[in-house]
Amino acid sequence: MPEMIYSKQFAAGETIFSMGERGRNAYFIEKGEVEVFIDRDGEKVVLAHIGKGDIFGEMSMIDDAPRSATVTATKDTEVIVIERSQVLQPLQSANPMMNLLLHVVLTRFRDAQNQLSGIRARSADVGNSLDEIRDLAFARINSERNLLQALDDNEFEMHYQPIVALDGGHIAGFEALIRWRQEDGGFVSPVEFIPLAEETGLIVEIGRFALEQSLRDHRSLSATFAEICPDLPVPFMSVNVSGLQLSRLPEIDILKQIIDDSGVPPEHVKLEITESLMVDNPEHAADALRKLKQTGVSIAIDDFGTGYSSLSYLHQFPLDTLKIDRAFVINMDKTDNGRRITASIAHLALALEMNIVAEGIEEAPQMAALCDLGCHYGQGFHMSRPLPFPDAQALIESNVRWHPDA
Ligand code: C2E
Ligand code: CA
Ligand code: CA
Repeated sequence: MPEMIYSKQFAAGETIFSMGERGRNAYFIEKGEVEVFIDRDGEKVVLAHIGKGDIFGEMSMIDDAPRSATVTATKDTEVIVIERSQVLQPLQSANPMMNLLLHVVLTRFRDAQNQLSGIRARSADVGNSLDEIRDLAFARINSERNLLQALDDNEFEMHYQPIVALDGGHIAGFEALIRWRQEDGGFVSPVEFIPLAEETGLIVEIGRFALEQSLRDHRSLSATFAEICPDLPVPFMSVNVSGLQLSRLPEIDILKQIIDDSGVPPEHVKLEITESLMVDNPEHAADALRKLKQTGVSIAIDDFGTGYSSLSYLHQFPLDTLKIDRAFVINMDKTDNGRRITASIAHLALALEMNIVAEGIEEAPQMAALCDLGCHYGQGFHMSRPLPFPDAQALIESNVRWHPDA
């Protein structure tokens, strides 16, 4: 059960907490007045009188150190109690630098108060946690700097995972997936750096690179494809676009320009967006998507069913393709319900006349089952992992086909 917010009453003269005590609550004064004071060599030194609308006890609530002063009600007082557990989670998920700033300010304030009360020692009790907080903040600044440097040094590259037509078994498109090349020839997964890129805003630059590079590569991939399979449609290029890239309308013009300049016909370009874009700000999302659609590109909704989805947005937005998340594909052959849920998603997409791409196909039977459900396309390790550009070229040249029963 979530924490209750509750009130408490103190009569005039009553002590609310004493200096040196451990305490995990802060108090918001609704009515009355309190006196905050310290004891210096047996002498009472009043620091403040505070009343309605003020907060006290907040320092210990945040850093869990002993109370640095005593608080007594000077009038009949009513307070709302704020529990440490209510702020712990937001504090822990806050930007590490903000967290560090908050704790540094707190420590300095406590030191000043200690000096006033004749306590010489620094606020040692919070020393350890401050070190940890400081380490986190530095680690974060470092990763941010590395990411920026990587962009400058051209350390990102695009890999391509084939998206296969489930009926014919041929390549129908590719999903462009970014990789961060390391000195040892290995790659850092986007799962490791995309969240930071989104938090810092660097995703805007990274996203431009991803679109530019994948469209540049598409020109060669599609030329090779046309040579090897002249009777099949040219594969589309599906590129991931972060919500942050679409949150500013001028950025959409830049993306449009990149598509224009690439010379790739827009009908061969698909942009993958996630549910959060539509949930966070539906009106803006509708505008952004309409603007993108004007260029002639198609839009796919990625990881469908994993967000906080309200099905209502499906018909409110100009979506062409629905990507069934890997989680549903995995569960499909585990339980009857798993299969039913995947089937319902497929039916829903078909009813809305959307294309379906099933993600994360790792075994042949999944491919067959998804084909039976009417899914048009599939991608997954069973067919191919994401490949560096030359390997994607070679795959096309091999004129490969994947059949559900193979
Ligand atoms: P996503 O868009 O859902 O991409 C599909 C992910 O599933 C890829 O992970 C792919 O390698 C992986 N995958 C494909 N088939 C299988 C399979 O059969 N089994 C399993 N276990 N995994 C499979 P990857 O490349 O690590 O990318 C992770 C995520 O990072 C992507 O998820 C996407 O959200 C993000 N991402 C990747 N590239 C970009 C990019 O250029 N821009 C943005 N904004 N995000 C990107
Ligand atoms: Ca994707
Ligand atoms: Ca996905």
